[in-house]
Amino acid sequence: MKTTPKMVTFLICVFMTGCLVNTFNNNDTKNTTSSTINHRFSNIDDLKSPIWVIKHSDTPLFNHFSFKRRVVDGPLRAKSQKKIALTFDDGPHGTYTQEIIQLLEIYDANATFFMLGAQVELYPEVVQSLVDKGYEIGNHTWNHKDLTKLSKEEVIFQINETSHVIEEITGERTILFRPPYGSTNYEVERVVKQRPILWDVDPMDWEVKDSQSIFRLVIENVTNHSIILLHDIYEWTVEALALILPFLKEQGYQFVTVSELEK
Ligand SMILES: [Zn+2]
Repeated sequence: MKTTPKMVTFLICVFMTGCLVNTFNNNDTKNTTSSTINHRFSNIDDLKSPIWVIKHSDTPLFNHFSFKRRVVDGPLRAKSQKKIALTFDDGPHGTYTQEIIQLLEIYDANATFFMLGAQVELYPEVVQSLVDKGYEIGNHTWNHKDLTKLSKEEVIFQINETSHVIEEITGERTILFRPPYGSTNYEVERVVKQRPILWDVDPMDWEVKDSQSIFRLVIENVTNHSIILLHDIYEWTVEALALILPFLKEQGYQFVTVSELEK
């Protein structure tokens, strides 16, 4: 067949139309793929769900890719790093401190006890038991005075006498102190020369007196690296702790001392 200029023009048009159709198809495919991925990742639960992650990590093919390993390891590592510090003030108590120790042991939980010197003098064996088991002990003054309302000499007495009576049992002076009522200032801290430790979660257990309410107030306010204020001198606090420990452990929290919290 003889090729005329008209036929050449026609063939060029057919070729170009084919190219255009292909281009549209490719774009369409890309759009579809992109929208599928976006849809999958737009569901935030998919990203959070350990099931989604484990499903992929179990496939040997994906274990060769570092990106996938990061996806797998990320959420699990983050979960294991969630830490909180439980702190117990105003003890030691002849009954409730021991019950708290028993609960902490069940959940492999460490904690910090801010003690009153006058209570330490009454229950030295409880202090010894705490030290033997690796709990941290801090200074909560001799008899719960507001340090900002005392003279310099009185502040020194409150802190040093308590530190001394604790040292007689533990062999170490305290390095952390918790001011009663959270009441402190520059002058107090300059005299005390120990690190003041306050808190960010306070369920007011001394006033609430109900284990369920204390439990709820703690779990509603706790965040990673919280310091929780409790008192080891109340029965209802022990009961609340029996609820708090399993719940927060299930949430992935590790219970550490105040000092460990900052490592
Ligand atoms: Zn107190």
